[in-house]
Amino acid sequence: MKTLKVSIVTPDGPVYDSNVEMVSTKAQSGELGILPGHIPMVAPLQIGAVRLKNGNNTELVAVSGGFLEVRPEQVTILAQSAEKEESIDIERAKEAKSRAESRIQSNQADIDQVRAELALRRAVNRINVYEHRF
Ligand code: ATP
Repeated sequence: MKTLKVSIVTPDGPVYDSNVEMVSTKAQSGELGILPGHIPMVAPLQIGAVRLKNGNNTELVAVSGGFLEVRPEQVTILAQSAEKEESIDIERAKEAKSRAESRIQSNQADIDQVRAELALRRAVNRINVYEHRF
């Protein structure tokens, strides 16, 4: 089986480096599935999960937006933040979710709604990846 080398990098350093048979994730333009030999491309990513498949095994990495660069034998993801399932602090994500929800519901003029909604999406994404809900 042919494989692709996948690197997920954040400003804090590398988070994932491995060879996989298929990568799928959410670009701004929609769901993307990448197999070895894919045409070169660059795409902005949504807050979402990167799914890394090898046989029956799928690993998940939560990413908070960024860019994906595809070359025929390599995929590089430059993410604002990225966490593998096993490094997600679920309590922290749940607290971030409640904090963002109460900010959104409070509807106060001094609350930055867009910022609160993005924080909520990051938290929900981490919870979904932790619970393997992708
Ligand atoms: P919080 O309000 O809990 O800080 P956040 O969404 O604002 O959440 P980010 O700014 O996206 O956090 O990330 C800051 C750093 O903290 C990044 O290095 C990110 O990987 C890490 N991080 C954030 N939340 C979690 C989590 N639940 N588990 C593990 N690492 C996390």
